[in-house]
Amino acid sequence: MQGDFDFIIVGAGASGCAAAYKLTENGRYKVLLLEAGGSDKRFYIQMPMGYGKTFYDKNLNWMYDAEPDAGINGQVDFWPRGKVIGGSSAINAMVYVRGDASDYEDWKAAGNKGWGWDDVLPAYKAMEDYEGGGDAYRGSGGPLHICANDKYLHWTTKPFREAAIAAGMPANPDYNGASQEGVAPSYQLTTKGGIRNSAARAFLKPARKRANLAIVSKAQATRILFEGKRAVGVEYVQGGQTKTARASREVIVSGGAVNTPQLLQLSGIGDATQLKRLGIDVVMANPNVGRNLKDHQGINYTYKLKVPTLNDTLRPWWGKLLVGMQYILYRGGPLAISINQGGGFFRTNERETRPNMQLYYQAFSTLIPKTNERPILSPDPFSGMSLGLSNCRPTSTGEIMITTNNPLAKPKITANIYSTNHDVQEMLEAVKFLRKIAAQEPLKSLIAEELRPGPEVQTDDEIIHDFRQRSGTTFHPCCTARMAPDAKSGVVDARLRVHGVEGLRVIDASAFPGIVSGNLNGPAMMLGWRGGEMVVEDAKA
Ligand SMILES: Cc1cc2nc3c(=O)[nH]c(=O)nc-3n(C[C@H](O)[C@H](O)[C@H](O)COP(=O)(O)OP(=O)(O)OC[C@H]3O[C@@H](n4cnc5c(N)ncnc54)[C@H](O)[C@@H]3O)c2cc1C
Repeated sequence: MQGDFDFIIVGAGASGCAAAYKLTENGRYKVLLLEAGGSDKRFYIQMPMGYGKTFYDKNLNWMYDAEPDAGINGQVDFWPRGKVIGGSSAINAMVYVRGDASDYEDWKAAGNKGWGWDDVLPAYKAMEDYEGGGDAYRGSGGPLHICANDKYLHWTTKPFREAAIAAGMPANPDYNGASQEGVAPSYQLTTKGGIRNSAARAFLKPARKRANLAIVSKAQATRILFEGKRAVGVEYVQGGQTKTARASREVIVSGGAVNTPQLLQLSGIGDATQLKRLGIDVVMANPNVGRNLKDHQGINYTYKLKVPTLNDTLRPWWGKLLVGMQYILYRGGPLAISINQGGGFFRTNERETRPNMQLYYQAFSTLIPKTNERPILSPDPFSGMSLGLSNCRPTSTGEIMITTNNPLAKPKITANIYSTNHDVQEMLEAVKFLRKIAAQEPLKSLIAEELRPGPEVQTDDEIIHDFRQRSGTTFHPCCTARMAPDAKSGVVDARLRVHGVEGLRVIDASAFPGIVSGNLNGPAMMLGWRGGEMVVEDAKA
């Protein structure tokens, strides 16, 4: 489709879908949503546990590799990103976390008016339909159903929680409520009726019924078109053909934290020296584009248990048949939820004023890798469980840069994992606490042995070497076109408008001023929702 629109949104991911929902709500504006990937109508997207299959599916996934990283002993980390309607929200692990209220206070304190906790809480409440019901903190009746996840949990989730409490974590009934700290009964999920509730399902499904929304899929934006300093449209490739679409009001880039800086750089917004070297005309020089990359790092400790776990259910053919029937007959059982069943947030030392570490419990283990599959559907051949960690606000910073003016080439991802002493020491403390949890009853009596890293890993140096060897992204890149009051320190202003040009915004996780404590799908959808509201407000003004 070629033509004229009021707004063009590039990218139908977590933020792009929420923004499209808000932008088309009043029926006044013609909106084009361009998506590089195709349809999300696939069994392994709709079935929650199917994300083991989409993890390496090049038809649905950009399948990036980061650069070899000294922080993980020179290894190359795999970076899946959704390339499909729904974006990464269509292939993620569905854990729903909003972050700590203080994260947003930090956003505001960095000079971003309108992004404090009191500003974002109403957006969270408005978009949510929480199964546990609405209250001062939670929403009900919004388009995004959040499953409380109190059915189908493996029974060992309870002794895990009791052990975490015995180790010193407070019990928290709702980490998305009054406080984030503590161990929860379970992780809340973006599922509805046993089906993945991606941003596409929550926001695009209703918005598709509106006559003013056009969705064009398998269309990869290759350049933002400018007249002088004003963005006026998008060039994209579809089926091998180059096409253009024009936006009379604004172009909104929602390509995610990897592809958004790539598209800005390809379009002449970025580090001027770098762009000139690649033969790209500079529209707006801003070295912050692609820089300030933040991401969470995760590590698992694996244990052999004396009692059956999901390994024993999911591995044998008859177990697969059983859970398959459970799922097909009534959308229930372990396939209807995430592998991350229990968990919460804790502080690694008393000096911290808020949680700095996230904890996961999985009644399941995958020590034995399987080629081209995230082996959650084929776990280890023994009863196993995993305790996982990921940091909340790491201080290591990386970057995403194009290395060619070819828009179809992959950008270079330099993550710089554990490149600060802060991040290393924090993870060291966290791993020790994780072992403390495993040493508490009633979990302790269920454990036969620690398999990985194993009891021989004891000194600080050994523990650090081990987590450098086995850590990896938890798939939360952000801040690569961060919000800040001016172009000296960021890329977009507090209304998400790109500094130094007109008619162009960034609405996705790359616009986060700082990383949020916990998984980023919820915050990305909130930013899409609130960004969409801002575009409409500004169009009226
Ligand atoms: C494997 C995995 C597991 C995860 N698990 C969780 C979890 O359990 N809980 C959680 O909260 N978060 C999780 N996340 C993270 C979360 O899904 C992301 O943080 C969130 O989706 C980011 O939203 P976004 O809108 O910024 O980008 P995305 O959702 O990635 O959307 C970007 C969209 O833009 C499209 N696009 C990009 N470039 C172009 C272009 N040039 N032209 C057209 N279209 C383009 C992409 O194809 C994509 O659809 C996970 C992510 C992954 C990959």
